Amino acid sequence: MLELTVTSPEMTMALGKQLAPGLQAPDVILLDGDLGAGKTTFTKGLAAGLGIKRNVKSPTFTIIREYQGGRLPLYHMDVYRLEDGSGDELGLEEYFNGDGVNVVEWSQFIADELPEHYLRIVFKRDDDAGETQRTLTFEPHGDHFERLVEHLEATHHE
Ligand code: ADP
Ligand code: MG
Repeated sequence: MLELTVTSPEMTMALGKQLAPGLQAPDVILLDGDLGAGKTTFTKGLAAGLGIKRNVKSPTFTIIREYQGGRLPLYHMDVYRLEDGSGDELGLEEYFNGDGVNVVEWSQFIADELPEHYLRIVFKRDDDAGETQRTLTFEPHGDHFERLVEHLEATHHE
């Protein structure tokens, strides 16, 4: 587990960008935390780090947005509005065994459909410390993600 504190949206994006080079298909990254905590902001940085030029927008009303043109495809999901058990219809399992990087906001709504290995990142607003401070907790599940988080820990200040 790794806890990092950031004080601006740019710092949150930078962390996403730094994580990207170590990602491989079909990695699953879960982003949890309240509305406005910074999950989509982090995804923007991650997309940039994959070399995706298109601006990443919140997939709230579409559930999933696909971004091609980077080192790997990015599948960005917001499952907040997913009905219980309808992950099947969305084809979650295919995405989680697919050709790209999967980023899932609000993963608590698909708690029963998670793969064995994934990286969870929990976003918390530190309201006492001001409007723009956030703490990100990285919880790796599986060797690959443990290595990724170790690498991030060693390099994030650069
Ligand atoms: P979420 O996807 O978790 O609902 P967003 O990333 O869409 O959150 O929105 C986060 C909002 O908070 C943005 O308006 C962003 O500019 C602002 N913000 C302020 N400080 C930070 C920070 N340190 N990290 C991320 N976003 C921040
Ligand atoms: Mg969002």
